[in-house]
Amino acid sequence: MKLQGILPFARTLLQEVIQAGDTVIDATAGNGYDTLYLATLVGETGMVISCDIQADAVQATAERLDQANVADRVELHQMGHEQLCHLSTFKSAAIKAAVFNLGYLPKGDKRITTTGDTTIEAIKQIYCQLTNEGRIILVIYHGHPEGKVEKDAVLDYTRSLPQEEAHVAMYQFINQRNNPPFVVVIEKRK
Ligand code: SAM
Repeated sequence: MKLQGILPFARTLLQEVIQAGDTVIDATAGNGYDTLYLATLVGETGMVISCDIQADAVQATAERLDQANVADRVELHQMGHEQLCHLSTFKSAAIKAAVFNLGYLPKGDKRITTTGDTTIEAIKQIYCQLTNEGRIILVIYHGHPEGKVEKDAVLDYTRSLPQEEAHVAMYQFINQRNNPPFVVVIEKRK
């Protein structure tokens, strides 16, 4: 297949806008793969704010960052992304990009999953701090029961964003079995 897969495409959307020195968000740290990718893109002078509600996820992410020797450019928190607005670093930041890899921790407890209400609250908070032409990338997994509810809520919300303020697009394989994940990107207009 020459088409980009969902996860590579999400990374392309990030890489297209993030430059050295930027401040960016990983709203669902999980095992730290996205946080590490973002830390590489922002370089030594940039900052990643990364969070997850699970201690195991935060620990796995911290270990991954240590191994790659980039922990000093990441502020890692065990907290819900809907609490980002309480961080002083977040309040004063101009955010270039954010990524949400929704759902549950791979190989973790499948009952602990992102939910529509808190995801939308976090999107709203990040959107307020987003630079012009900054992007929020959502990778939406809807093969589990909460994921279906979350997908509908997030799509309703993102479709309602005024066209004058944001471009909102979707990238999805529409002939695959088993509810494959898809990407929604919000780009703030100039
Ligand atoms: N991006 C991760 C990576 O690179 O490994 C994978 C993320 S995983 C699909 C989803 C994560 O979201 C889980 O680790 C889960 O604990 C976390 N999560 C669930 N609710 C959350 C919330 N309200 N705020 C932050 N993280 C949350």
